[in-house]
Amino acid sequence: MRTAALLACLLAGSANVYPEASSSTASRTTENHPAVSATTQPPIITDTEVSGWVRRWQNRLGLSDWKIEAKIVRLAQLPKGTIANIHWSLPRKQATIKVLDSSDSTLPKGEIARDTELSVVHELVHLSMAKLPLDANNTELEEEAVKKLSSALLTLAESEQK
Ligand SMILES: [Zn+2]
Repeated sequence: MRTAALLACLLAGSANVYPEASSSTASRTTENHPAVSATTQPPIITDTEVSGWVRRWQNRLGLSDWKIEAKIVRLAQLPKGTIANIHWSLPRKQATIKVLDSSDSTLPKGEIARDTELSVVHELVHLSMAKLPLDANNTELEEEAVKKLSSALLTLAESEQK
């Protein structure tokens, strides 16, 4: 029985890294990140914003009975090659979502907020599948489904706001 799981997600690439995976195929490189100091700039995304996205999507996905914490973390605090992850405990109904600090993002500034919200939706879709008998050693299909669903949900929500 899978009571706790750690999922690391790569939205831009194709790989999903589980800690038990013997080899990682995560491919989003970070080496060419421009070495610009962002410490003097205001953050593009804030804890309040990320928490707001978590609450909104948690409710939309019927996960209101979960206690979900959101954290903005630096690149080194995420599994290699990933930009967001989620860790959960099914018996406790508690989860922690980590999203990448905007100062470590390689995306154009104008795309960071939407991409971070997409990370939140993506990780919550994983959480909504947490009880399914998924194969931790073969995650490509799960990742593909989660990507398509999260992207469709966010696009739909955006079209409703117009
Ligand atoms: Zn994923």
